[in-house]
Amino acid sequence: MSNDTEWYPDKYYNVSRWSDGYFAINESGSLIATPSQVNKPPIALDDVVKEMVSQNIELPAVIRFHDILRSQVEILNKSFENVIEEYNYEGRFTGVFPIKVNQMREVVEEIIDAGKPFDYGLEAGSKPELIAALAYNDNRDSLTVLNGYKDHDYLKLALIGTKMGRKMIIVIENVSEVQALIEVVSEMKIKPMIGLRAKLSAKSQGKWASSSGDRAKFGLNVPEILAAIKMFKQHGLHDCIKLFHFHIGSQISDVRVFKDAISEGARIYSKLSKMGIPLEYFDVGGGLAIDYDGSSSKNDSSRNYTVHEYAADIVSSLKGICEEEGVQHPNLVSESGRFITAHHSCVVTQVMDEITPYSDTFDTSAMDSEHSIVKNIRDAEASLNSDNFQEIYNDTCGYREDCYNAFKLGILELEERAKIETIYWRVLRKISQILKNQDVIPEELQTLDDLLAKQYLCNFSVFQSAADVWAIGQVLPIVPLSRLSEEPTETCSLVDITCDSDGKIRQYIDYEDISSPSIKLHKLDKNPYYLGLFLTGAYQDVMGDMHNLFGRLNEVHVFSDSEDESNFYIEEVITGNTAENVLSTMQYNPDYMASKVKRNIDKQIKAGKIAAREGVRLNDFYENCLKSYTYLKV
Ligand SMILES: *Cc1c(COP(=O)(O)O)cnc(C)c1O
Repeated sequence: MSNDTEWYPDKYYNVSRWSDGYFAINESGSLIATPSQVNKPPIALDDVVKEMVSQNIELPAVIRFHDILRSQVEILNKSFENVIEEYNYEGRFTGVFPIKVNQMREVVEEIIDAGKPFDYGLEAGSKPELIAALAYNDNRDSLTVLNGYKDHDYLKLALIGTKMGRKMIIVIENVSEVQALIEVVSEMKIKPMIGLRAKLSAKSQGKWASSSGDRAKFGLNVPEILAAIKMFKQHGLHDCIKLFHFHIGSQISDVRVFKDAISEGARIYSKLSKMGIPLEYFDVGGGLAIDYDGSSSKNDSSRNYTVHEYAADIVSSLKGICEEEGVQHPNLVSESGRFITAHHSCVVTQVMDEITPYSDTFDTSAMDSEHSIVKNIRDAEASLNSDNFQEIYNDTCGYREDCYNAFKLGILELEERAKIETIYWRVLRKISQILKNQDVIPEELQTLDDLLAKQYLCNFSVFQSAADVWAIGQVLPIVPLSRLSEEPTETCSLVDITCDSDGKIRQYIDYEDISSPSIKLHKLDKNPYYLGLFLTGAYQDVMGDMHNLFGRLNEVHVFSDSEDESNFYIEEVITGNTAENVLSTMQYNPDYMASKVKRNIDKQIKAGKIAAREGVRLNDFYENCLKSYTYLKV
């Protein structure tokens, strides 16, 4: 990393560190996507936005790079294939994509298509997901792994899949599912493929630590595994037990956690095999992490390993233990979701306005007969210099305190308070300038820039487009799409357009620390200023909610194309929610609403309060707004 005082285009945004090579900054200061590293030209994101604007696709919007999705599927599968060869491992890798991480049909279709050469399958965790998997995973050589709580219908659907010739693996998550499965099997008269999910004692860490250990929601502990096997045996079904499974949590940032889980899981697997259970698959679940903050560390938002190291650790530990125990190497299954989808989509928003804690416009010049606090704070400002800034800072804070007290007692006039507040913020900004040339910054002034930070108002909803930021404090990389060859000067934080004070982003990736309460951005000018929120393709892409009725975003699906002059084409546009759409989901009837407004306007026309022609126009406007996008119009 270069010297702290020296600026270079990626200094504040760390693109080269979190993007895994999928994004970069070009010479003209634009953020570019490099979806397929091989032979595909880079795509400038501001060009994509330009094209969207020309097609009247309003922001905020989701941009999906399907090439990135395909590339991640290949990387995961090839990493396992290479490692399997490297270690002379005798099983093969047949991974599955967990639908819950991104259920969008286009995403699932693309993953299945890219995964065909590897017999990459799907994982479902609910009835609707299973219904989707039955229709979409039609590769008979790939697995469909079925997790989650299961009722009679779920199990019956699974066995319909078996009858269709698919490799459906029903994973037993808790003891009561054993009996339920036995009943459905006898009703459907077909032998299932059964999986057993173990509750390991190996500890996970991070935000999903509770997915493992004694209090985990899913899985069988060792006594329960043995009991389940006994029950299956009584019904002649123990030879259907084909898969051993565990999932210790998502975003596992420390590779040692995997090693621990594999050693424990591999022992259980081996002992079950030696009991005569014809297990064939060892399923390590998900957890492969994303380096959201670019720190390559054990931080919750990062990971201290590469995908190759992850695969190598699994294969080598599993091989070692199987050989020690004298059992065959099983086929390997993983259920990585976050890794597959996180990079492929981003949210683009436009900064609409800035909110400062201070105002500059009020005239603070001296007048006769003003209160001594006004005079004192003005004198403090006049005497400020690089030797006394700490003392002046303390005095100024004191005067502002005095001002509020005096105001409450009725001693100060509104104009006087306005002057004091204006001068107070001006002094703070001057001190912040002085601090730029200081070697040592006093502790109480270290957060001054965050106090002065501007809030950039962005046209999006945190609740819809960055759900994990709001819910679990996820840190996401945020980068301007252009002007990256210009040093950003403004210390900012971002707020959304919901009427909720929680609708803001409180943590940003930082070039020298884990996270920072503010982000450096460029001064706004008359040109639109676009920001991208990156690595949003896993979970938050589909978990967003309807807070304030903003609803789903417009979406474009972009493919690289070396024949095209801008190096890309928009393959598909999915329009986001209109006001009418979101109101309907909350049980409103838009037609009724339109007719009711019309009747009320008509009444005013009859009463002579609105001219007929104007009334028609007002009514049309209401109806147009019903049919329009829910976000701010630029
Ligand atoms: C959510 C989930 C996954 C996906 O985990 P990632 O960390 O996103 O890879 C895999 N398996 C099961 C059982 C899950 O519940």
